[in-house]
Amino acid sequence: MTAKIIDGKLFAENLRGAITGHVARLKSEHGITPGLAVVIVGEDPASQVYVSNKAKQTAEVGMNSFKHELPADTSEADLLALVEKLNAHPAVHGILVQLPLPGHIDTTKVIETIDPAKDVDCFTPANVGKVQIGLPGPVSCTPLGCLMLLRDHFAGDLTGKHAVILGRSNLVGKPMAQLLLRDNCTVTVAHSNTQNLADVVRQADIVVAAVGRPEMVRGDWLKPGAVVIDVGINRVPAPEKGEGKTKLVGDVAYAEAAEVASAITPVPGGVGPMTIACLLANTITTASLINGLVPPS
Ligand code: NDP
Repeated sequence: MTAKIIDGKLFAENLRGAITGHVARLKSEHGITPGLAVVIVGEDPASQVYVSNKAKQTAEVGMNSFKHELPADTSEADLLALVEKLNAHPAVHGILVQLPLPGHIDTTKVIETIDPAKDVDCFTPANVGKVQIGLPGPVSCTPLGCLMLLRDHFAGDLTGKHAVILGRSNLVGKPMAQLLLRDNCTVTVAHSNTQNLADVVRQADIVVAAVGRPEMVRGDWLKPGAVVIDVGINRVPAPEKGEGKTKLVGDVAYAEAAEVASAITPVPGGVGPMTIACLLANTITTASLINGLVPPS
């Protein structure tokens, strides 16, 4: 079997197209221009790239983009004051504080200061709880992107599928489990203490790998026909490209897995592009809810 490639890049492009339409409607019918504020503290190069991409795509879909770049020695008090200011700013409907923050700043305190109504990353306890009980609001971006790809692949119906999620982080594994449960999957969450991991994965109709271990999931761990969503982004040496060169790989051994799975997301070009698109989708959700409107489904 050669797996179908689930093209996250194309899906994300189409999603951004739909978001552009939602932005235009919010503007023309309600006079609302959704606004996303991104805050970055320090000069971590990877974070700088993420933040620039987020700002660029925000502007491309017609939203207002507010970028706040603060020096690495910014005090916690100053950062909290900025978050409070953005909480109160009427043109800002989404606030994203790029993580990780410098060590002298208490990340939990910063997250808990973000108004849940504007928490487009879905990090605040209030929004985590809403996802759990199925109330409207923003949904964790990466799991939401994975869910969209799966719904598209299964034509909207995941009922009865056994999903095995590898990883239980607050960022990916746990919210992914909640979303798949809501879509009527039988969900198993595996982690570093799981026994006989390969046997557990072999039971899955759907595998979501989010462990941060390069190519850990092997082809012979998969049930033939399984659908594989590879969240992992790992930079590894690539001597075949030249001395000192590197490449990105997922948590799944792609070539082996593609021989057994019925469908698989590539790395790069799978889940990654969906994450930013879902951030924009969450900003539409928060902008709608803040203004008493029903968010587009
Ligand atoms: P974390 O490090 O927070 O969590 C990793 C999880 O994997 C933990 O629950 C850990 O278990 C589990 N784990 C680690 N090693 C093993 C193992 N050998 N066997 C079974 N489980 C294991 O990572 P994140 O969830 O933040 O990210 C996971 C991956 O996804 C990373 O590669 C990251 O770069 C990528 N990522 C990609 C995104 C995208 O947009 N595509 C967005 C976010 C993340 P335990 O809890 O027991 O320690």
